[in-house]
Amino acid sequence: MEEARESDTSRHFLRQWIDEDHARGRTGGTVVTRFPPEPNGYIHIGHAKAVCVDFGMAKLFGGECHLRLDDTNPTKESDEYAENIKNDIRWLGFQWSGPGDAGEAGFYNASNMFDTMFQIAEELIRRGQAYCCNLTQDEWRDYRGVPEKPGRPSPSRDTDPARNLRIFHEMRDGKYADGEWCLRAKIDMASPNIHFRDPVIYRIRHVSHYHLGDKWCVYPMYDFAHPIEDALEGVTHSMCTLEFEVHRPLYDWVVDRMDEQGLLVVRNGVKIRPQQREFARLNITWTVMSKRLLLQLVAEKHVAGWDDPRMPTVCGMRRRGFPPAAIREFCDRVGVTKVESESDPALLEWCVREELNKTAARRMAVLDPVKVVIENFDGTRTVTKPNNPLDETAGSREIPFSRELWIDRADFQENPEKKFFRLGPDREVRLAGACIVKCTGFEKDADGKIALIRCTWDEGSWGGNAPDGRKVKGTIHWVDAATAVAAEVRLYDRLFTVPDPLRDGPERFLTYLNRDSLKTLTAYVEPALAQAAPGDRFQFERTGYFVADAKDSKPGAPVFNRTVTLKDGYKPA
Ligand code: ATP
Ligand code: MG
Repeated sequence: MEEARESDTSRHFLRQWIDEDHARGRTGGTVVTRFPPEPNGYIHIGHAKAVCVDFGMAKLFGGECHLRLDDTNPTKESDEYAENIKNDIRWLGFQWSGPGDAGEAGFYNASNMFDTMFQIAEELIRRGQAYCCNLTQDEWRDYRGVPEKPGRPSPSRDTDPARNLRIFHEMRDGKYADGEWCLRAKIDMASPNIHFRDPVIYRIRHVSHYHLGDKWCVYPMYDFAHPIEDALEGVTHSMCTLEFEVHRPLYDWVVDRMDEQGLLVVRNGVKIRPQQREFARLNITWTVMSKRLLLQLVAEKHVAGWDDPRMPTVCGMRRRGFPPAAIREFCDRVGVTKVESESDPALLEWCVREELNKTAARRMAVLDPVKVVIENFDGTRTVTKPNNPLDETAGSREIPFSRELWIDRADFQENPEKKFFRLGPDREVRLAGACIVKCTGFEKDADGKIALIRCTWDEGSWGGNAPDGRKVKGTIHWVDAATAVAAEVRLYDRLFTVPDPLRDGPERFLTYLNRDSLKTLTAYVEPALAQAAPGDRFQFERTGYFVADAKDSKPGAPVFNRTVTLKDGYKPA
């Protein structure tokens, strides 16, 4: 696991908020946050942002961040998703900590709190703070009304607690069908905040839960469950995205009721009242991030899986070769704000390049090979090149060199354009780290494509410089044909052809799928790459950053994914 470093650009409003509470002793000495994903899909770059905020703030204040699976909505949840969420968070460089509720430190399942939630609901009923209601969905909406005008009370609003308790138990015992009854908090039907107008807190759902099976056929609503989970875990600061801002009064209402029921955690003599604050979601252009749409891409096989390198998922970015430090840096640079905005994936790619420039080993690979024969060269020699010119500790490697080589087709022009300083008839070029060669002729195949380039070498130029001091401007990469290793290389492009694939609504986003987003080719790579371990990241000199594919790459038969090209015009503001 790579260590997440403390961010210095994170002096945002959430940090100030926590800082103040902590200083005033409201945390009982420990800042506790939580990351609460629903195990109904893989986490994506947007979740990574929340991970960086939730875990990052806890780390900054020396506190704890819980990982809580918010498994209160049983239909689409699974252990596969749960396991991958854990794996992805660890890979991003974070570790949950705290007591935990199932034998694993810092790890919680919302479903383990169902018993307590049910008891809290019973107590609300006893205290006349909740009632069972059998309005239909349409009636319920109609009674609730519009923000400008007070709503109307449900005919069940002022019924007897004993009767409500009986119905609530019958709901739990499976006597009713989905939607026949629900439990509502009795708050304020005239509130301008529609979420305050006697919200539903429990509903009937006859579905199996992925852990609890058929134990329950009533499930708590998010607005009821979330504050209870936070409070029971002793969370001090509960951060979420802006759409929950209007739900905050309800969050506080539930916490107040728990306080009345004596259920708040006391830490070092301080009663812990969890508080919610909201920040803007991370949105990125040229992709989609809703789990539903990502699932559709996978299910309909538009991509090879959740971890397809074109996906904005954390596992997709990992397979693409993005280092976790670059993803954290990106989340940091985007910052924490209260204003929705869209980020350019070019910023993320820029962060990836910055990181890989420092850390990736350099190698030579020829993606579109054409053969060069050096007619006056005999035997074999060895070129020694640094693994990373920016990092002396990275060492060096030896690369074989002999009379037949592969170079990239783009490095030869039969009729060189102006400003083309590479190889062409009667021209000289430097073979990186080796020597200077001059083109003496070439052959074409039946289609008119260059098939072979003939050269001679300047025997005094071993090491790269001309003995007479003449300037040779161009330097190209190469691979020795006798020892080269053939490798599958996958070039990825954006998955969509427009920055806003949802411009015509989610039903039509597939219209903008980029059908050319994957190109596969066979490259020749230097021998050192044959044994690349899955997940190893490299800079292919002059070409781009690549990673050995985590699934398909085998020792001796490597497969490389292009992570990013070497450069683009992007500069962060
Ligand atoms: P989606 O809408 O993509 O299906 P979700 O919000 O339903 O995602 P959850 O599993 O409920 O997914 O999210 C877990 C946490 O991650 C929540 O606190 C949520 O606010 C946060 N989160 C999800 N998407 C983003 C995003 N784009 N930017 C920042 N935080 C996000
Ligand atoms: Mg959600």
